[in-house]
Amino acid sequence: MSDIQVGVISCSGEECLGGTLSRLATRKVMETLRKGKVVSLCLPLYIAGGDEEREFAKEYPVIAVDGCDKCCAKRATLKYSGEVKDALVLSELLGEDIALSKVVSARDLKEEHYHMANNIAKEICKKVDEVLAE
Ligand code: SF4
Repeated sequence: MSDIQVGVISCSGEECLGGTLSRLATRKVMETLRKGKVVSLCLPLYIAGGDEEREFAKEYPVIAVDGCDKCCAKRATLKYSGEVKDALVLSELLGEDIALSKVVSARDLKEEHYHMANNIAKEICKKVDEVLAE
């Protein structure tokens, strides 16, 4: 984990498209676009008391990616680790109609949704790059 410099914590929303897109985009950043620089933190484990995740977030900058303005990932990070370096809220980026829509299952996703996920991943990368440039 020595090259890892930034954590991205995605909300785990299973109830709306915003949560699904948060996870897809975060995975793409970690596995492809900024591979080796970014680790994704598991929100359920984090809330359940995962020491490694919480310690990481205390030591390294963390970017929260949330599906809607309830900002579960951001709030959990603030509560357990103290600080969020930056945050992205998909309902602000895509509009509430899209982010809160009930298209959530991977088999219901269409090309347009993958396109959205790619754009969100790019937005996350911009934030990651800003942190890395500091
Ligand atoms: S931020 Fe919104 S979409 Fe994500 S888990 Fe919380 S309520 Fe669900």
